[in-house]
Amino acid sequence: MNKIYLDNNATTMVDPRVMEKMQPYFIEKYGNPNSLHGFGTETHPAMGEALNSLYVGINASDDSDIIVNSCGTESNNTVLKGIYFDLINNGTKNHIITSQIEHPAIRQTCEFLETLGVDVTYLPVNDDGIVTEEILKQHIRKDETALVSIMWANNETGLINPVKELAAMAHEHGALFHTDAVQAVGKVKVDVQETDVDFLTFSAHKFHGPKGVGGLYIKEGLNLTPLFHGGEQMGRKRAGTVNVAFMVGMGYALDLAVNALDFENKEVRRLRDKLEDAIVSINDTIIIGKRELRTPNTILVSFKGIEGEAFLWDLNWNGIAASTGSACSSEDLEADATFQAMNVDTDLSHTGVRFSLSRFTSESDIDKAIEVIKKTVERLRSISSTY
Ligand code: PLP
Repeated sequence: MNKIYLDNNATTMVDPRVMEKMQPYFIEKYGNPNSLHGFGTETHPAMGEALNSLYVGINASDDSDIIVNSCGTESNNTVLKGIYFDLINNGTKNHIITSQIEHPAIRQTCEFLETLGVDVTYLPVNDDGIVTEEILKQHIRKDETALVSIMWANNETGLINPVKELAAMAHEHGALFHTDAVQAVGKVKVDVQETDVDFLTFSAHKFHGPKGVGGLYIKEGLNLTPLFHGGEQMGRKRAGTVNVAFMVGMGYALDLAVNALDFENKEVRRLRDKLEDAIVSINDTIIIGKRELRTPNTILVSFKGIEGEAFLWDLNWNGIAASTGSACSSEDLEADATFQAMNVDTDLSHTGVRFSLSRFTSESDIDKAIEVIKKTVERLRSISSTY
């Protein structure tokens, strides 16, 4: 059976060109970049090229820092715990603001910081599912709030927050601003200078790079206590031998993703809209979040009378991969938290199913998915006691 992958917000296929680019750094050029001999130093040009692609990809200035690390989760932990050590533990400030719709990598880290005595505010969203400046303004405390951390795009709904305005509001009140841009980088234009964010998280496996490598942007002039001590790598900002192959892969993957942004916003969007139109034509179906406010690849849908997991099971049986929540935490029923924050009708809320496309999704994938989704909804509703 031809399998169709519509779960690209969980992870993406490595672009074959990225795979090819990484290949030499496993077997031929496997030196430790910190070694003084030729095996070490021959990795340097490729690492420099990769770092350059990362700077260009998010438009970071030469004087800022980009720390290459293991994943988006690590970047988020580095920022939140760094702020704790730098501004909170020493008594300077004691308040962090985040939102109710963040990924667990932010939410659970904030919950951990609360156990250490940090005062954390979890902002609600407006009726469109967006964290607005007005909402932030009601909760931010001048010279008390140390950090505002609001995601660029939500992993469940794809809804995009007004990062530039939120960063400006944070700065006006003397707070630093971080954004978890894991679901934005590679899908929409991300410019750290234009938005004036202080810290930004990204992760290679969401834009057709390898899993297990991510990055953290730190604006020039700022410093964070590192999460890892024990080496001089990354300018002493993140100890641990750098995974050269993955760093090379992430840099090239971002290059390719940025070059494909037009395609993402036209062709991937066209296929997403085609799928969405077909889903909307099914009775008693709601799509979460206005289309024009979302990343071009994402649909979160609720089918009345159908239990999300049963639906996914059926889809999977028919060769289609989708998701009920974030793959890294489906146990948490993260979509439920998002639904609650958005006040979605609870009759429908437990049945959220996410379809997320990529530049590798084809027209025939979408045609087949439409056919299977319609049949599956019909079949499950015919045996449902609540429909
Ligand atoms: N932040 C968001 C918004 C995500 O969607 C994810 C992964 O799903 C992460 C963080 C975690 O990224 P990583 O898998 O690289 O740790």
